[in-house]
Amino acid sequence: MTTPTLAVWKFTSCDGCQLTLLDCEDELLTLAGRIRIAHFVEASSAVEPGPYDVSLVEGSVSTPDEQRRILEIRAQSRILVTIGACASHGGIQALRNFADMTEFASVVYASPQYISTLDTVTPIAAHVPVDYELRGCPIDRHQLLETLCALLAGREPDLPNTSVCSECKRRGNTCVMVADGIPCLGPVTQAGCGALCPSYHRGCYGCFGPMERPNIGALLPILRINGMDAVDIDRVFSTVAVAAPDFADRSRDEPSQ
Ligand code: SF4
Ligand code: SF4
Ligand code: SF4
Repeated sequence: MTTPTLAVWKFTSCDGCQLTLLDCEDELLTLAGRIRIAHFVEASSAVEPGPYDVSLVEGSVSTPDEQRRILEIRAQSRILVTIGACASHGGIQALRNFADMTEFASVVYASPQYISTLDTVTPIAAHVPVDYELRGCPIDRHQLLETLCALLAGREPDLPNTSVCSECKRRGNTCVMVADGIPCLGPVTQAGCGALCPSYHRGCYGCFGPMERPNIGALLPILRINGMDAVDIDRVFSTVAVAAPDFADRSRDEPSQ
């Protein structure tokens, strides 16, 4: 039996999700005996040509070259897994979808005429079919290892589609929103991080993006009761999953006042 091959790709991103893979250290050594890392330029300049059994894709599509490259990578990959909020939702760079790109470029770059960019930043799934999506900024290392082990074993990865609240309950956390009035997006955010922020007495700010069918309309009045005004609410939803349709259209299902 031939050893399965793994490729890791970067699009518009900060590299933090690829670093999570490198951060797996001990587990990577074990994995390295079961899988051949054929393309991972952040870790090694030695790259092998495709096809690849599994591709991990970090980052969003923001340039014409990335638009072309993701099609090539999909064609060479048996299984394609996106890693992180940039790849799943566009990331923080998708904030420019809600602004004037020309104005942004003129402020940020000394010579904006050399910038070649698309009008909007889009997630990988807007361009090619995605087999599995690992959420978060950065991704959760346990989810990454679970996914790689599952794919090696030929089974489906165990990726939850419930809310962060369900993980809070499993950990036995006291709810920071109910007990302390700290605004929290946990009720509408996809689980997977192990309720990291509430476990450290902080509200969730939604880095895993919206869960399946989130009831955002019901959460908005609770955020207001806990001291958030319209600007605060805009800000808390405008982070790494700002372009996720459920977060972007958040007032759509809100009951009339
Ligand atoms: S999701 Fe976050 S950590 Fe991952 S590449 Fe994007 S900005 Fe970096
Ligand atoms: S702290 Fe946040 S995530 Fe945890 S139960 Fe309360 S609302 Fe849900
Ligand atoms: S609690 Fe929310 S913001 Fe914190 S890591 Fe989990 S999904 Fe991200």
